[in-house]
Amino acid sequence: MKDQLLKLRDEALAAIAAAADVGAIQEMRVRYLGKKSELSQVLGGLGRLPTVEERKAMGALGNEIKQAITAALDAREAELAAAALQARLASERIDVTLPGAPVRRGHLHILNQVIHRIEEIFIAMGYEVAESRQVETDWYNFEALNIPKGHPARDAQDSLFLSEEVLLRTHTSNTQIRYMLEVARGRTPVKIICPGRVFRRDFEDATHAMMFHQVEGLVIDKGITMASLKGALTEMARALFGPDVGIRLRPSYFPFTEPSAEMDISCIFCGGKGCRTCKGSGWIEIGGSGMVHPNVLRAGGYDPEEVSGWAFGYGPERVAMLMYGIEDIRHFVNNDMRFLRQF
Ligand SMILES: [Zn+2]
Repeated sequence: MKDQLLKLRDEALAAIAAAADVGAIQEMRVRYLGKKSELSQVLGGLGRLPTVEERKAMGALGNEIKQAITAALDAREAELAAAALQARLASERIDVTLPGAPVRRGHLHILNQVIHRIEEIFIAMGYEVAESRQVETDWYNFEALNIPKGHPARDAQDSLFLSEEVLLRTHTSNTQIRYMLEVARGRTPVKIICPGRVFRRDFEDATHAMMFHQVEGLVIDKGITMASLKGALTEMARALFGPDVGIRLRPSYFPFTEPSAEMDISCIFCGGKGCRTCKGSGWIEIGGSGMVHPNVLRAGGYDPEEVSGWAFGYGPERVAMLMYGIEDIRHFVNNDMRFLRQF
């Protein structure tokens, strides 16, 4: 029996030393130490040994062999687990010196760039940027701006009404009223520019869109005249288009200003000599302006006998189209990356 036991031990230890992975070790635990293992079977014959001394000796030897095999299994298992971990670390190592996947950086939309530029020009002249809601009530969009119900200007503006009294604002002028009533509350001077989205019911083509932007300016103080309007507009036009650009104010009509004027800039393409873009006139129309109508001042809580003011408004889309030679207003909202990446 002793030889049998020693042979079993040698076989088991050799097999354990040669085990290839942790899985094999687990199988060997069952094979060499389990209830049905050869070792268990041999030791099961202890009772048939002739003397007590022999049984004791063989029992002790059996236990020693069990312990030796258990120790060998534990040691080899630990060794294999460590090796497996090393292999995994090696295979999953990240080479930080490899070049990364390129990340394409985004940038501001061309219209936001132009709006920010306009804002900066006016902030430098001491203006505040004011914004307000795009969904507006009839009163703030029309009534307070001297456009009562039934006024023909309402038809001309082709508004998008959401209900009887609520619409998508047709101009940023609602911000003038809201600023006067909610922020300034009778204080002077008021010096704001109001950029934002506006909406019209219109047929879209290269120069018309249902949604576009406006930048409006409003100044209110004692003794404000059209001279300071022209000064501010000239300053803005030169900052945007260059130091040689001139401004021309042409008499016009808007319900919210009196007197009203179209504002033209001298043609930035021909310098005023006349070309295809300015249709030979030397001037390019850019927006509207005028002295704030007394009714608008009253709606904003100001006394037109005490203060006066002027306002202007124009489209940053138009400015961007002139600056960059963009021929279709729809490019701004089509999200074609080939277009957007150019700016
Ligand atoms: Zn021209």
